[in-house]
Amino acid sequence: MESRLFKLTRPEVEEYLKENDTILLPLGSTEQHGKHMAVDTDAFTAQEISLRVAQKTGVLVAPLISYGYSPHHMNFAGSVTLSFRTLVNVLKEVCGSLIHHGFKKIVIMNAHGGNTNSIRLALKEIEMETGVRVYSVMVYPSKTGFGAEGTKVLTQEGGGHACESETSVGLELGHRILMDKAEKWKPEYSSISDSDRGKVNAAYMFDEYTSIGNLGDPTIATKEKGKVLVESVVNDLAEFIEDLKKR
Ligand SMILES: [Zn+2]
Repeated sequence: MESRLFKLTRPEVEEYLKENDTILLPLGSTEQHGKHMAVDTDAFTAQEISLRVAQKTGVLVAPLISYGYSPHHMNFAGSVTLSFRTLVNVLKEVCGSLIHHGFKKIVIMNAHGGNTNSIRLALKEIEMETGVRVYSVMVYPSKTGFGAEGTKVLTQEGGGHACESETSVGLELGHRILMDKAEKWKPEYSSISDSDRGKVNAAYMFDEYTSIGNLGDPTIATKEKGKVLVESVVNDLAEFIEDLKKR
């Protein structure tokens, strides 16, 4: 079955809507991912995980939103950011269009932590303005989220960006990764004082944590770990979608 909305004709979309009202909306970012991963890492992951979940559940996938909220990466070349309000509006207008046509169960498949606050505001405003509840999930496996079981293969300390986890997922998904350029991050906080670290919020830039652009240890990433991580998160997400379809 073709699960990409944008590859269907209008009558095919009408046919789908007679029986279904669920659609996945992949949301990524365009931002640097260290020396070994491409700037479209989050966009690529959002798209690929969404397609795998769609294949398991028979739902459609809307066109990928490949720009996100990434001002903290702007000291690194290749990063592109939307403003906070622009991202909120993009999400509201895309979801609003889908709702207009009868998609009542929309799930934002997010691959970038920096998008979280924009998504939250968009979800709140969409629900207040249309009465439709839109959902958002993280497509990367995490210890406290979907794919938690899979994260048991990880052994790095720290992480969270172009790290053992994200790199392994990318290897499994067939992303462009230069493993010989991967570097282990040694904690460095160029302008954050020891006493403030972890306790004080400020508009810190990403290069204040890492001059190489990644966190964690991507040098120990493997395709095998990626397979475990991806299968785990895809299975959990598919379970959520099946449950949502019945509501
Ligand atoms: Zn990422």
